[in-house]
Amino acid sequence: MKKIYNLPVKQAYTDLYQKGYPLIKKDTLKNKDVTISEGSLIHLVDDKQRFIAKGYYGKQNKGIGWVLTNKETEVIDTAFFKKMLAAALNKRAHFFSDPDTTAFRVFNGEGDGIGGMTIDYFAGFYLIHWYSEGIYSFKEEALQALEELGNFKGIYEKKRFDTKGQYIDDDDFVTGERGEFPLIVKENGMNYAIDLNDGAMVGMFLDQRDVRQAIRDRYAKEKYVLNTFSYTGAFSVAALLGGASKTTNVDLAKRSKPKTIEQFSVNGLDFEAQDIVVMDVFDYFKYAKRKQLTFDMVILDPPSFARSKKHTFSTAKDYPDLMKEAIAITGDNGIIVASTNNATFNMKKFKGFIQKAFKETGTSYKVLEEFSLPTDFHVDRRFPEGNYLKVLIIKKGK
Ligand code: SAH
Repeated sequence: MKKIYNLPVKQAYTDLYQKGYPLIKKDTLKNKDVTISEGSLIHLVDDKQRFIAKGYYGKQNKGIGWVLTNKETEVIDTAFFKKMLAAALNKRAHFFSDPDTTAFRVFNGEGDGIGGMTIDYFAGFYLIHWYSEGIYSFKEEALQALEELGNFKGIYEKKRFDTKGQYIDDDDFVTGERGEFPLIVKENGMNYAIDLNDGAMVGMFLDQRDVRQAIRDRYAKEKYVLNTFSYTGAFSVAALLGGASKTTNVDLAKRSKPKTIEQFSVNGLDFEAQDIVVMDVFDYFKYAKRKQLTFDMVILDPPSFARSKKHTFSTAKDYPDLMKEAIAITGDNGIIVASTNNATFNMKKFKGFIQKAFKETGTSYKVLEEFSLPTDFHVDRRFPEGNYLKVLIIKKGK
């Protein structure tokens, strides 16, 4: 049995937790010096020691733990995990029965009631992300629950809780059958090659599904597309399957080239007809301006923070400048897909960045569509900041 610690909440925050706010933050506690161990159970209490909520201690960059229930008598055991997982799987029943989409999120952390843990499904395999040592201490309960709910070939995991919240490189296989990689999954009929046991990233980001579909179905036809921060070229696959005339893919990582070739190949696309450039995006912008290149569509999906040899880039600070670079090489009436997964600012602020960039370049524009997380990345209404994804599809010109 895990020990339970009573932690009094500052009076100003009792109401918030009573209403179901899930993130336990140091600042909301009376005593900031919490010295309990990862995975300990917490009872948040008011100043009269009355119970408010039960959670666990697990340090992440966002906070020091997550609330799991508002019932004092609820036990955090395999049955609890099974109840939460079953409800989450139920919500995704329509995904499980769709043969055109075999990769999606089945459990979205606090959005499904257990912060610090996400589970994705890739054509028969589960991938669990653990975001703190605290939640990792419940691994046995979570696995037991998943096994009892059945219906998978194997389970893999990513441990993302070294001191800087980085991925811990390991054999990521957990149980069941080992997969044969690349594993080919489907997304709205498109193919994507996935490897669940090759570093922190698996080959595609599931949260952009709706954006990829929009690009393929509504924007790509006959377009010359520049895909920056292209990673494995997932957006380019969608664009080409939607009839794009050509794609240029730019990413700093050497591995992006073979990985992009692989994504094109598993879709029967001729990779030799595409440009795959291993280069710093900021250098590529200079090159494109020098060569007076213009594109019909530019895709911008940078990491929240990136450090290369020459540049430190932070979306919260530098997005307007990045956007200005994109505007400069987008043709009139061209499309810019502007995306960010930075959780520290919201859509309103993001739109402000876009407006600033167009204003400073003296260019008019129109937002055609906007996206946040897709439905399988379920967000709790009491924790809207969990909806980190912001994507705008913008037309340059009137
Ligand atoms: N848009 C991609 C995901 C991008 S992940 C998709 O939809 O799948 C971020 C990528 O940015 C990584 O592949 C990383 O190698 C790349 N990157 C980071 N800094 C960069 C820079 N300065 N220039 C080019 N690529 C960069």
